[in-house]
Amino acid sequence: APAIYWIRRDLRLADNPALLAAAQAKAIIPVYIHAPHEAGDWAPGAASNWWLHHSLAALASAYARYGVPLIIRSGDSLATLRALVAETGAEAVHWNRLYEPATIERDRHIKQTLRDDGLSVESHNAALLHEPWTIRTGTGGDYKAFTPFWRACRRAAEPEPPLPAPQTLARCDNADAMAGAMGRDPAATAGAAALESLGLLPTIDWAGGLRSRWQPGEAGAWARLEAFLPATLAAYEPGRDYPARPGTSRLSPHLHFGEIGPRQVWQAVQAQLARGGDSDPAARTESAETFLSEIGWREFAHHVLFHHPGFPDHPLNARFADFPWQADPGDAMLKTWQRGETGIPLVDAGMRELYATGWMHNRVRMVVGSFLVKNLRLPWQAGEAWFWDTLVDADLASNSLGWQWVAGSGADAAPYFRVFNPVRQSERFDAEGDYIAHWIPALADLPVKHRHAPWEAPAPVLESAGVTLGVDYPHPMVDLKESRQAALAAFEQIKKAG
Ligand code: FAD
Repeated sequence: APAIYWIRRDLRLADNPALLAAAQAKAIIPVYIHAPHEAGDWAPGAASNWWLHHSLAALASAYARYGVPLIIRSGDSLATLRALVAETGAEAVHWNRLYEPATIERDRHIKQTLRDDGLSVESHNAALLHEPWTIRTGTGGDYKAFTPFWRACRRAAEPEPPLPAPQTLARCDNADAMAGAMGRDPAATAGAAALESLGLLPTIDWAGGLRSRWQPGEAGAWARLEAFLPATLAAYEPGRDYPARPGTSRLSPHLHFGEIGPRQVWQAVQAQLARGGDSDPAARTESAETFLSEIGWREFAHHVLFHHPGFPDHPLNARFADFPWQADPGDAMLKTWQRGETGIPLVDAGMRELYATGWMHNRVRMVVGSFLVKNLRLPWQAGEAWFWDTLVDADLASNSLGWQWVAGSGADAAPYFRVFNPVRQSERFDAEGDYIAHWIPALADLPVKHRHAPWEAPAPVLESAGVTLGVDYPHPMVDLKESRQAALAAFEQIKKAG
């Protein structure tokens, strides 16, 4: 009998255990079910939807090459799976696991119900090196600090080697009809029509910057990894800290959508190390270890979310629940931050990069986050929500971890009293001012040393660069020193209360 392979955020063919398991059956029915309402409060945002559309298009083409149509439907997941079982006589359902709380609950229910219907139902691991429940402290608890967590992961067995893509896939007799396919190239037409009907693309096209930057899909993920490994991995440490340089992998959206899996990245890094290169071997190994530990942070984020389902909304450190945030009538301050008009160049450059490309460099994420939560004293959840809508890599686990890190309330977080100084950060990590000049052309003619804090530049310097503050570029919306003091005072309040 045929087997259904329920596709979710595992939009690839290689290293895909659910796909391989379903491919053992007489015929395979690959289905993507669009059900954003089943994600609880965290239905994907606009940038994620843009990505999903293009990634599904790439996947539909990949299935078409196997001669198997990708079925795309929307609605209730359980009802859709049951309808497919009725249409095809399938006796088994396979999927790869996801770890968001609402999804876990839904999947548990679906698994039980389908098993009660008499089907064989199996879930698999395609997304993580280690399942969140397999890494435990000595006393059987979960980890709240990264270093011991990662040490425990490294002590555990080496990650499994990745699985190959299936060589062939057997189509179901009525596959074209199920996919709504028509015409001469049914497999291809089906995917396209069904995909359009999901309405994932924006009605006003703001996605030009995303299109020019990204290639969603499995081939795009591999192109990214293969460009990164030989050219950038050896210099990842310290190259990863400079936002103007292409010093990181930019794999995050590909990993989020499961277009590539961490086992594949792991193995590719080991192979690159074995290949050697021109750089000093010790430095190369250190760089690779640092990079792998970032994959470790992704694992840690999933571990924390799995063990603390309230993590995306509630501070892990309960003391922060009563933090005295600043009132922001009409969200005026929040909107200024969102638009990249704070008057602090590094913050604005980051926010503009985010809006234009759906991505922001990690160091700048920390800086814009600290500015929002500490200098503006607005709740981290407001920043988290904006990132959720605008990042192409928006990921519930990593985004919550990032924001609670910034806010000082999370697992292994930055202490609240450590307030990033965006001007010092800018001088240190964008010393040439290239990142600022790229994202804020109005400041590009300022001498480098004045780009980080234009309000401190002498009037003749501003004038000769053609910059009038308040006209070409805003005055800073807050005084950095005063707002830092106010943040520390606010923190003292909850410290006393705690
Ligand atoms: P690389 O440096 O090349 O790292 C390789 C991979 O490791 C990344 O693709 C990512 O999957 C993982 N990784 C790296 N750093 C982290 C980290 N700190 N936490 C978890 N995983 C990490 N990352 C997301 O994937 N989605 C998010 O929604 C997200 N929101 C964030 C919000 C804030 C406030 C902060 C400070 C960080 C956030 N991050 C998030 C983490 C990090 O900024 C991105 O993963 C990274 O910038 C992606 O770029 P890259 O792929 O070039 O990373």
